[in-house]
Amino acid sequence: MKRGCTQCGECLNVCPVYGQFSREEYSPKGKRLLMEPLAPEFGGDESAAELNWEIVRSLARLCAGCDRCRKACARKLSTADLLADVRAAHPHWTQHFWQLWIARMGPLWPSLGLMASLVPGGVTPKPLKPLHDTAKALADRNGDQPWGRIRKNPEARTDAAKPVLLFSGCTASNVRQKWSSKANDLLHAWGYELSDPGGFACCGGTMHHAGRYEAQRAMERQNSEYWRKSGKPRIAVFCASCFHSLHGYAGRVLAGNEAGEWLAALTPVSVLLAGAEIEHTGAKPAAYGYHQPCHWGDNDNDIQFLQKIFPGLKKGTGLCCGMGGILQMSNPGLSRRMAESTLGGFPGDIRRIVTGCSGCVMQLNAAAREGVRIEHWLDLVSL
Ligand code: SF4
Ligand code: SF4
Repeated sequence: MKRGCTQCGECLNVCPVYGQFSREEYSPKGKRLLMEPLAPEFGGDESAAELNWEIVRSLARLCAGCDRCRKACARKLSTADLLADVRAAHPHWTQHFWQLWIARMGPLWPSLGLMASLVPGGVTPKPLKPLHDTAKALADRNGDQPWGRIRKNPEARTDAAKPVLLFSGCTASNVRQKWSSKANDLLHAWGYELSDPGGFACCGGTMHHAGRYEAQRAMERQNSEYWRKSGKPRIAVFCASCFHSLHGYAGRVLAGNEAGEWLAALTPVSVLLAGAEIEHTGAKPAAYGYHQPCHWGDNDNDIQFLQKIFPGLKKGTGLCCGMGGILQMSNPGLSRRMAESTLGGFPGDIRRIVTGCSGCVMQLNAAAREGVRIEHWLDLVSL
């Protein structure tokens, strides 16, 4: 049996949900106190508990899956996983709908974004405004001119001989294909040999968060099998959340040496573009900021890459954007408050924010005030 939470409270300072309420029952520590005695992995037995399951289920839905609590915890306890287990055992209709939305409705996202952008904001009832804004963010508001043209310094050493499969994830595949094309063009220019990524599905991370474990495993098996069939090439990823989720395959659907090969194959696109030199176009604004995706955390290669090509780039002081897989659907108000807090962590003169996670781009654009834009860094560079 695993040893559980010591109630040390280290996770309180990093949890963005606790940050919104400042009430301990909403913190990872509080939720563990309630839920570990129900979890078999901690020797618990929920059938023996007399609880109001509606309250348990409501608490289990208050999590953005940001993984900050696990990183802060000396025991490396993942409260996100514990809560996903509760959601899996006590499902809500939104989880089923979320699975449909991700796994089946992706081709409809562009039309939905277009329709939502045609509806004036003023006519939307207040409770539906976060969902309306989220739908509007699906539409691509044609990016401005890139801030710089990049090329590989001929002296830079890269391991371009190995083939690469580009993992785009569902946001890019459905509503921002331009990110995949840009990444493809850049990697090609760096000399990488790109294989057809057509056999990849969604990374499955958001299915985990929704407690839809069967769907998650199916996606994980499809992706790992496609990688195997393709000869185990390197996998280039430009979304922090996809990377985080793909990383978790080791130990779940991949074991032993193969798990090690998988982890070694996963590579952020920014790492593959080593030795980038930039020629600025004049489109870069005087003030700009960087939103660090929770799922890069301390291992953020994007910011190192971006600070070289866009000197002066600084992180905002906010925490999680509140995208959190199903949180956007299960508690749109909380999800919006988290996004607004994150945007509030930038000085007022910053109107252009760069990030490296597809979900953060969508979520923060939905909550941004007029005139503020959040872009994937792939939008800001060209060849
Ligand atoms: S994963 Fe993030 S939101 Fe969820 S409990 Fe942990 S710190 Fe809080
Ligand atoms: S940091 Fe870990 S051990 Fe400490 S209260 Fe949070 S979950 Fe419990």
